[in-house]
Amino acid sequence: MKIKNLYSDKPVISLEIFPPKPEMPVDTIYDTIHELADLKPDFISVTYGAGGSDAGHTVEIADLIQNKYGIDALAHLTCINSTSDQIDKVLYKLREANVENVLALRGDKPHGISDIDLENSPYTYATDLIEHIKEFGEFSIGAACYPEYHPEAENKVADLKNLKTKVDSGADFLITQLFLDNNDFYKFKENLDLMDLDIPISVGIMPVINKRQTERITQLCGAKIPDKFKRILDKYGDNPRALEDAGIAYATNQIIDLLSWGVDGIHLYTMNKPHVARKIVESISSIV
Ligand code: FAD
Repeated sequence: MKIKNLYSDKPVISLEIFPPKPEMPVDTIYDTIHELADLKPDFISVTYGAGGSDAGHTVEIADLIQNKYGIDALAHLTCINSTSDQIDKVLYKLREANVENVLALRGDKPHGISDIDLENSPYTYATDLIEHIKEFGEFSIGAACYPEYHPEAENKVADLKNLKTKVDSGADFLITQLFLDNNDFYKFKENLDLMDLDIPISVGIMPVINKRQTERITQLCGAKIPDKFKRILDKYGDNPRALEDAGIAYATNQIIDLLSWGVDGIHLYTMNKPHVARKIVESISSIV
């Protein structure tokens, strides 16, 4: 089914996984998928290798989710360093596998590639990819959005305007970058409402269960760490078991607040840890 049609009266619950590295056998992720499928999410998304041009295992895993487990698969696709032939090759493979949903992304700028190199690329922004996929036809297209705004954006207003262009070019639904303070999402949503930007949004939640993730959050996506989460890190940072429990509880509380506020969907960044996803999904089962 096309993901845009999943958003109706009930919040959409989805899970995100990342494929094994291209040089690793794909079957190293089979147990993870099996366990996540057992949670009966509305869809599972599969990330695409950073730097573009190589689909790695993304298509193969999306195919498995769609056809072996009968769960709608969302294949991420980045365009930053790709030719249109490379993009089409992936789209044809997805179409052949009956995967109907693509998350269209620009991707992060690969190290060693300058802005000048990118000027010659057929795709500068996710919008260019969305237009291409739209022309290709038949896919429900998702796109990324950033409640704390994209780190490269000139300013918040510019980022919101760029998001509007992205939606106008054909995105059917949005998935947010992770955030640890729900107020950032509520303010962001208010701005979208002021712009009359009406599109289903799944909020991305990452349970932070180890210290390494904190570095990833601050360095890679620029999400801020609220004081109440800093206190958790200070107190339990050196106790992996306690930090995992606290991280799961923190994410669960965030989700309960977001659901009671009335979000369209929750997208859980599982980090390929089914036991963490299970604890969260089971603890919200009666309120979705
Ligand atoms: P864009 O929408 O193109 O935006 C990038 C920047 O350009 C923003 O600052 C925006 O304001 C600006 N911009 C956009 N349009 C214009 C314009 N017309 N003129 C001037 N400026 C403009 N990365 C991966 O490599 N693989 C993945 O699988 C992956 N999955 C992700 C899933 C989610 C839900 C999210 C939130 C991110 C994901 N990423 C992934 C990371 C993503 O690729 C990066 O955040 C990247 O830096 C931006 O991608 P985008 O599609 O949001 O880009």
